[in-house]
Amino acid sequence: MTDTEKPLNFIQKIIEEDIASGKTTQVQTRFPPEPNGYLHIGHAKSICLNFGLAKKYGGQCNLRFDDTNPEKEDVEYVESIKNDVKWLGFEWADQVKFSSSYFDQLYDWAVYLIKEGKAYVCDLTQEETREYRGNLTEAGKNSPFRERSVEENLDLFERMRDGEFEDGARSLRVKIDMAHGNMQMRDPIIYRIKNIEHHQTGDKWHIYPSYDYAHGQGDAIEGVTHSVCTLEFAEHQPLYNWFIDNLPVPSKPRQYEFSRLNVNYLVTSKRKLKQLVDENVVNGWDDPRMPTISGMRRRGYTAQSIRNFIESTGVTRVDGVVDMSQLEFSVREDLNENSPRAMCILRPLKVTLWNVPEENSTEYLVAPNHPQREDMGTRTLIFDREIYIDKEDFQEEGNKKFKRLVIGKRVRLRNAYVIEADEAIKDSNGEIIEVKARIIEGTLGNNPEDGIKPKGVIHWVSAIQNVDCEVRLYDRLFNDIAPDAGGKDYMESLNPDSLEVLTGCKGEVSLQSPRTDIPYQFEREGYYFLDADSDYDQDLENQRLVFNRTIGLRDTWDK
Ligand code: ATP
Ligand code: MG
Repeated sequence: MTDTEKPLNFIQKIIEEDIASGKTTQVQTRFPPEPNGYLHIGHAKSICLNFGLAKKYGGQCNLRFDDTNPEKEDVEYVESIKNDVKWLGFEWADQVKFSSSYFDQLYDWAVYLIKEGKAYVCDLTQEETREYRGNLTEAGKNSPFRERSVEENLDLFERMRDGEFEDGARSLRVKIDMAHGNMQMRDPIIYRIKNIEHHQTGDKWHIYPSYDYAHGQGDAIEGVTHSVCTLEFAEHQPLYNWFIDNLPVPSKPRQYEFSRLNVNYLVTSKRKLKQLVDENVVNGWDDPRMPTISGMRRRGYTAQSIRNFIESTGVTRVDGVVDMSQLEFSVREDLNENSPRAMCILRPLKVTLWNVPEENSTEYLVAPNHPQREDMGTRTLIFDREIYIDKEDFQEEGNKKFKRLVIGKRVRLRNAYVIEADEAIKDSNGEIIEVKARIIEGTLGNNPEDGIKPKGVIHWVSAIQNVDCEVRLYDRLFNDIAPDAGGKDYMESLNPDSLEVLTGCKGEVSLQSPRTDIPYQFEREGYYFLDADSDYDQDLENQRLVFNRTIGLRDTWDK
């Protein structure tokens, strides 16, 4: 389906109506992460949606850091977020924006509200403020400080700004209605005293604006036309509009909500992911088991496959949980089409082909990089008298189902000869350490002349010329289908076997200068992507290759 044939989602419909009615001339959106952690798969949805809308309608999307909570934020997160957005394939309009760069304007507008008699400095403690607020069935009570004079409010607010008071001693609140049916409208706090430094503004400020106050005004300053956020903000919309209606803002943005992306077996909350990092449950935010964009990238998920997955989940206002296999389907689909093929033996078993001459036995064979795509070219395979096959591809006796190498039976080596096994050699513990076999002459690209066909096809590499590598196999991080549902402690359902490390794996020589842009399909095994822990720029003896299993060839998620 081309882009113009796809049915419109509800936000696209709204935008098309706004364009048709002339209400919107240039679409402006924004993606507004708080830099308090790395982005995860849920954010990918917001990114694809916001940047996608701008792109579809010839508009622009800003990347704005919603940095109003300095105690939890960090420039490390700012950098990682920029990197992730770019990697996903999107470009923001001009400079990166920060809510903190609007702090002066926000302060002036707060002064404006005080002068209008619509904001006041309140001395209630946090607990008292909560008590005065009432609840869903009971109206709140007015703060005793609600009727302070404009002069007193201006004086106190200025002194709050200048750092005269302790954290939490006072706050600035807007005067709306303490009996309002929507709790968000009961004189919400718009400034808190926090005597801490900010990663962008240093020690300039002692007061920081609330998210609700900063967000919509940031939208208005940037000329955002459609401010798209997740459903939990629906309840905040009246407050969003109240600010826009009561302040001399330069434009009038509108907020639209859609439902969050939830994927089963995953935890997606920066706070919870941070706990996994802080407690060393994983090796950092970009651990390939993490549902972060950086983790998925390191694991080998492509940007295209993530975009395709997000597209497949649609945009609605209905909450739901998407199956993990839907994400994996997109990954497999993209990799199957675009991954170069290679052979790698994860659990090597030596096979000596005794009828190949000992001297000058090396043969160079040519194999396609992709079975269906000639455009991807070919590679050279080295065939020798001694090869490795996977331990799991050999059995002494075998059975009907086992279509691999068995004593007295034949199998084809992928892209090479048909061989027949003669004998298994065992160590003193009875473990098979080598197999003696022979090649069937004339079977390069042909079936055996005697008509006895091989049972199946297995992968192999030369035991004399190959590359040694480490392979990391990943499994789900949590065993529970909904690790944090209903307030469950997700730390209790951690899968102890989420990482298995195999060393001494043997790859074909084409892996000596590995591709770093896309995973390989290790034939018959799955998709494997070069990990950042690799070092392959040195002499061959000392190079270190580490591959992450991106995903297996088939869906085994629910088995
Ligand atoms: P988290 O709970 O993971 O910290 P958040 O909503 O607090 O998420 P923000 O940095 O505030 O994180 O989010 C930036 C944008 O991404 C917001 O517009 C938010 O609505 C959106 N977003 C966050 N999580 C999801 C999700 N699971 N699905 C869709 N959009 C999301
Ligand atoms: Mg948040």
